[in-house]
Amino acid sequence: MMGNRPLIALRDITQQYRSGSTRIKALGDVTLDIHAGEFVAIMGPSGSGKTTLMNIIGCLDRPSRGEYYYADQLVHESNPNVRARLRREEFGFVFQTYNLLPMATAQENVEMPAIYAGLRKRLRWARAEELLAGLGLSHRVGHYPSELSGGEQQRVAIARALMNGGGVLLADEPTGSVDSRSGSEIMAQLAALSERGRTIIVVSHDPSIARHAERRIELLDGRIMADTGSVSRSRISTAPEPEISPPRTQAPVLPLAENVRTALRSLRHNKFRTSLTLLGIVIGVFSVTAMLGLAEGVRREILDAISQLGGASITVLPALGEQRTLLTLDDAEAIRRRIPNLVSVTPEMSGGATLIAGARTESAQVTATTGRAMKDRGLALRQGVFFGKKHSERYAPVVILGGLLADNLFDQHVNPVGEHILLNDVPYQVIGVLKRSEARFAAFDLRARSVYVPLMTGAARLFRRDNLDMIGVMVSEGDQVRTAQEAIEALLRQRHGNAAFQIINQAEVRDVENNIRRILTLLLGGIGGISLVVAGIGVMNIMLASVAERTREIGLRMATGARPMDIRLQFVCEAVVVCVLGGAAGLLLLVGLGSVINSFGVTLVAFTTPILLTGLSCATLTGLVFGSAPAQRAADMPPVRALAAH
Ligand code: ADP
Ligand code: MG
Repeated sequence: MMGNRPLIALRDITQQYRSGSTRIKALGDVTLDIHAGEFVAIMGPSGSGKTTLMNIIGCLDRPSRGEYYYADQLVHESNPNVRARLRREEFGFVFQTYNLLPMATAQENVEMPAIYAGLRKRLRWARAEELLAGLGLSHRVGHYPSELSGGEQQRVAIARALMNGGGVLLADEPTGSVDSRSGSEIMAQLAALSERGRTIIVVSHDPSIARHAERRIELLDGRIMADTGSVSRSRISTAPEPEISPPRTQAPVLPLAENVRTALRSLRHNKFRTSLTLLGIVIGVFSVTAMLGLAEGVRREILDAISQLGGASITVLPALGEQRTLLTLDDAEAIRRRIPNLVSVTPEMSGGATLIAGARTESAQVTATTGRAMKDRGLALRQGVFFGKKHSERYAPVVILGGLLADNLFDQHVNPVGEHILLNDVPYQVIGVLKRSEARFAAFDLRARSVYVPLMTGAARLFRRDNLDMIGVMVSEGDQVRTAQEAIEALLRQRHGNAAFQIINQAEVRDVENNIRRILTLLLGGIGGISLVVAGIGVMNIMLASVAERTREIGLRMATGARPMDIRLQFVCEAVVVCVLGGAAGLLLLVGLGSVINSFGVTLVAFTTPILLTGLSCATLTGLVFGSAPAQRAADMPPVRALAAH
């Protein structure tokens, strides 16, 4: 007998399964010691509890009752990470059905456990090759499982079990799926590994297979019926092991590159399904960014339109629904004289008019104002000059044309300045032409379609009235705006009684602008967001399908030492990879389509870097959000159940 303490000590281990209302006792009070270096065969008819016992020893399953000591340490059944560490560092599993990853080559299958152990790529690659060579598979390293015979697949599985050391090799009916000649070969290989000092536990119901083992344990109905007992071992040989020793550390988290590689492989494997999901994300990210871009574009246009209300700090308008006869030139004059700290007071009138230049006719908005007010409003001249005080005092019949209006009325090679036009059948001379703004919607560019006349010219000659449409007021200091606004309101109320006015200051205009931006962003972003959510649900759907489809793979990864965290990360990573790929494609589509539209001269949608970045982050976030539930489901699976899946 061996004098030292057992490596594996089971004390009264009981395993009960509940199926419906009946309870199945798969193991009943099994007490068993196995020493390091033993070669044990567990035998018994089908259903006697062999696999159940194996799974408990290998930390794939937890017993309902009893204690399990590994190297004198009680195996804490509550902590899945402790069991993952034991599986990774101490045990190597060989299954009846090989359980190789179909999408990976022999070498990739063998190296997989070392990924979770944190062995560097070059080292694990070399070790995998050496292990395969040791099992006579050097000529098969690059082959996929479907290209290998059953015996070869099982030898790949043995190499994988040895990858992280495999001090204890657990083989559950390893010869059950291969022909008898391959079966003997596999048993010979296990015997050779036993010679080199490994502890081997092999399950079989075939006595001719069990013959290879030194100790045979017989199970029947979950109880040990016979045990030939531990035999002392003196013949541990020193046959060479692979030069690269197995790793003993754990990667803190699996390297991202590894996860991305696995994700891409799985996505490639299901090309059709992947492309449908990608399409969803492409559309989702496209709509979000397009809508945000549209919101930004429209906001800029509206901003432009609002800024045409005036550069004035305060704008006085008759209230909506009031008679338009309310504000007069006298009101403007009163404001100018009675309110302190004002830089300027500009009365304005406006109305429609018909313009004729040669054979061309245009209708336009006419604004009677001062040159100063036009400058304050940020209008710039392309040609000519603004009005001066004299133009107004002399009721001079002169106009300044908006850029678009000038282009429509005159040929390109004609300089409109100095030319005469008919404004409501009265001749006026053009003294200036405004620059066209860079507005995206020409329809919004009111100024480009307007014509301007000096204030008094408008009052006396064109409109023949003295009621105003607006008074613009500039205040010298920003903090006096509120005081001036109140003073103007008091003055107007004194002059006009209870009639209502709208007095808007620029801060309020800015509020309006901010509100518009917020509403547009929420509204349009929300519309885009909905399609992204729909796409996200699509991602969740394929991730759930992927998890269901790869349940065995998950079980296998867990069996080789992957922690729940590693599994979760793998699937979240897969979801994020799909979403980022789809997102990038969506942005390309947006930029591509955008430049096609822009080539027609309309910049409908503003693409800014923040918007593109938002699109990409939305994609990543979609992956994280909709990938996490399927990933959690995968990580929560008990290893035995995952391995038993079909
Ligand atoms: P063996 O490997 O010796 O054929 P198992 O250990 O697989 O036997 O099963 C032992 C008994 O436990 C059988 O009666 C089997 O039907 C039952 N059993 C195994 N796994 C489960 C399970 N997950 N749920 C319910 N019963 C199970
Ligand atoms: Mg079994």
